[in-house]
Amino acid sequence: MDCVFCKIVAGEIPSVKVYEDGEILIFRDIAPIAKIHLLCVLKEHFSSIAELDDRRAVLLGKTLKKIGELAPSLGLSEGYRLVVNQGENGGQTVPHLHIHILGGEPLPWA
Ligand code: AMP
Repeated sequence: MDCVFCKIVAGEIPSVKVYEDGEILIFRDIAPIAKIHLLCVLKEHFSSIAELDDRRAVLLGKTLKKIGELAPSLGLSEGYRLVVNQGENGGQTVPHLHIHILGGEPLPWA
């Protein structure tokens, strides 16, 4: 599949990984817009929250729980922002569901 995040998950494109388990991968965004800018991808390829079924919804909930658990060790103990861009108007450029994890400094609109 011609998906940059699938290729990162598969190790075909290099990334700076900060956490991985059987279902998710967290790595550094290549073009950070905050002092800490990570991307959390579900390893399974699908592009939008409109494609969530019950199983995927449970996985997404577990993913949010994991991010909360990992946050202090990622340097995010002072707070952070999660962003999920969806579709063209939402600014989504990679059609593989991912969560931006932004922090490490006070963010605009905080
Ligand atoms: P979005 O615009 O919400 O789809 O986010 C896609 C993000 O993926 C952007 O912030 C890009 O900087 C990031 N990105 C694209 N290619 C790579 C890559 N090879 N490694 C790390 N981050 C990437």
